[in-house]
Amino acid sequence: MSTSAARQIRDLVYDTLADEGRAPSVAELARLTGLNRAAVQNLLDELAQAHTLVPTTDGDAIRMAHPFSAAPMAFVVTPADGRDDRRWWGGCAWDSFGISAALHLDVRIDTACPWCGSHVSYTSGPTTPPPGDLAVRFPRPAAEWWNDVVGTCTMIRTFCSREHAEQWTAAHDPGAGYIASATTVWELAGPWYGDRLTPDFQPHDRATNQAILERVGLTGPFWRLP
Ligand SMILES: [Zn+2]
Ligand SMILES: [Zn+2]
Repeated sequence: MSTSAARQIRDLVYDTLADEGRAPSVAELARLTGLNRAAVQNLLDELAQAHTLVPTTDGDAIRMAHPFSAAPMAFVVTPADGRDDRRWWGGCAWDSFGISAALHLDVRIDTACPWCGSHVSYTSGPTTPPPGDLAVRFPRPAAEWWNDVVGTCTMIRTFCSREHAEQWTAAHDPGAGYIASATTVWELAGPWYGDRLTPDFQPHDRATNQAILERVGLTGPFWRLP
């Protein structure tokens, strides 16, 4: 990260998403940092260029800071302890596990199978894998994820079974994508997102992330990072 001011903005965005399930506004970041709004906007642009944050289409607000989403998406993540009133939007199946990993928290994840529409609800945590029958479909190869990262996350969905993921693919996008077990995606989310909220977090370089993919068995051209 290029400057300590950018780092401060990044950390405030992550802390707000983690604590409150929403992203701070430019005005809020200006108040919290003592910078003017134009300076905050420039730093948000810089963080977006580095893929640290994902801006909204108009660029004046935060859309995602992986694994968190500032707007409703297909997954609702709830602390497994029902007395805790926090909630988060999981941008995708992977990010939902990522929120659990980043917060070091057992969660319940609620979504719907895109093929049959069934409500799918499962619990998982840093040391608790999701049920083994669930499947996750990735719509496009790793090299293309950031061409449209919100669109990519939107399509990384949990199906109630591998069969339903295969049927959805045959009907909507024959021959495309990759179907993994939810357990594999959960294994991936731990090392990918587990350090995201630590004070000394440093963005992973490409080789580190490629090694994480390889370690959980996601290898070959589909999984080659750009
Ligand atoms: Zn289904
Ligand atoms: Zn995602």
